[in-house]
Amino acid sequence: MSGKQRALINIDYTVDFVADGGALTCGAPGQALEERIVEITEQFIARGDYVVFAIDMHRAGDELHPETKLFPPHNIEGTQGRELYGKLSDTYRKHRDADNVYWMDKTRYSAFAGTDLELQLRARGITELHLVGVCTDICVLHTAVDAYNKGFEIVVHRDAVASFDPQGHEWALRHFKGSIGGTIVSKGED
Ligand code: ZN
Repeated sequence: MSGKQRALINIDYTVDFVADGGALTCGAPGQALEERIVEITEQFIARGDYVVFAIDMHRAGDELHPETKLFPPHNIEGTQGRELYGKLSDTYRKHRDADNVYWMDKTRYSAFAGTDLELQLRARGITELHLVGVCTDICVLHTAVDAYNKGFEIVVHRDAVASFDPQGHEWALRHFKGSIGGTIVSKGED
């Protein structure tokens, strides 16, 4: 690799978005990522790269939130549904105190909306963002588009993103590559 500073943005891999019975689950396609998302996360943490857990957070009965009209309640503050899914939860617990690991609550699809993510990235001279998590065509997509508009380079790990909607997933991967100049990688290519 060049001397480029990079970060991993780990998006919404929570019980509500991934587990059977999660409030807004991707189901099997999301569960299939578990090993790979853990592997990538462990690699980035071990290399000393900045690792952000950008995790959706809602309040129960929030009438003013635009998602209230669109989706059932999900990722409610303080609930088990908002915890990281499966082994990624263990990875986070093991490394949560590391200087290069940052848990960030977000309230919109994009990890940049209403958060200090951009400030944290700029402070570290980071120019390349690696994206993993769910859903490819919602929160990963909106984060990637904002990153593009802010001038970051984007790398999407095809084997570590998923959606409940297979067509949406494929469309988003084409969009990352064809419209925002992202690089799509799988295991062995990163
Ligand atoms: Zn949400």
